[in-house]
Amino acid sequence: MKDPKGTNLTWHTGEVDLVARRRAHGHRGATLWFTGLSGSGKSTIAHRVERRLIERGAFAYVLDGDNVRHGLNRDLGFSPADRVENIRRVGEVAKLFTDAGALALTAFISPYRADRAAVRERFDAGAFVEVYIDTPLEVCESRDPKGLYRKARAGEIADFTGVSAPYEPPEAPEIRVRTAEHDVDACAAQILGWLDARGYLDGDEGETER
Ligand code: ADP
Repeated sequence: MKDPKGTNLTWHTGEVDLVARRRAHGHRGATLWFTGLSGSGKSTIAHRVERRLIERGAFAYVLDGDNVRHGLNRDLGFSPADRVENIRRVGEVAKLFTDAGALALTAFISPYRADRAAVRERFDAGAFVEVYIDTPLEVCESRDPKGLYRKARAGEIADFTGVSAPYEPPEAPEIRVRTAEHDVDACAAQILGWLDARGYLDGDEGETER
């Protein structure tokens, strides 16, 4: 591995490989990267999927935007550079979870295609699953679960995605979830069905490509 800062770092390969980890957990490691507007349902659906996976005995964990900003990323604000770094760090943490054999679920708006593509690049084929929570802006705004759209429209929040900052929808997400048409349980079931159908939830290596 490249030595990023010339400090003689080496990459230690352990004694446990992906196959052994997969067998131990009963499923493969992967990151489900949820993206969508504020209020689209990323967090709600990610937590429902996490619960269903845990009920099945899986090793699943949600990395949630606000929670990560309390700790790992508490030094970061909302400037363009800090937003990029926020997503990069979360991507790296999700990758560590994935390498550990977990099903990591991330719930970040992550509005820019380039940032999502940079995270995807860090993963092996099939280990990064982009989940587009496709909810029309009007629906997100009418839900306004945190009152943020109201504040953004009143000019109290600058650069608010969908109002005064762009959202670049995924062009080819692995999963597209339409929350205006299906309730939370149905959306979670769609995601679990996708994983199941592609062998992600099997403990033995199978076909897990798209
Ligand atoms: P985000 O994490 O994308 O900002 P949240 O999950 O915090 O969004 O909020 C979504 C809101 O929409 C919640 O109040 C949730 O109850 C509501 N909601 C209504 N229908 C759905 C659905 N089908 N899927 C997800 N959330 C839904």
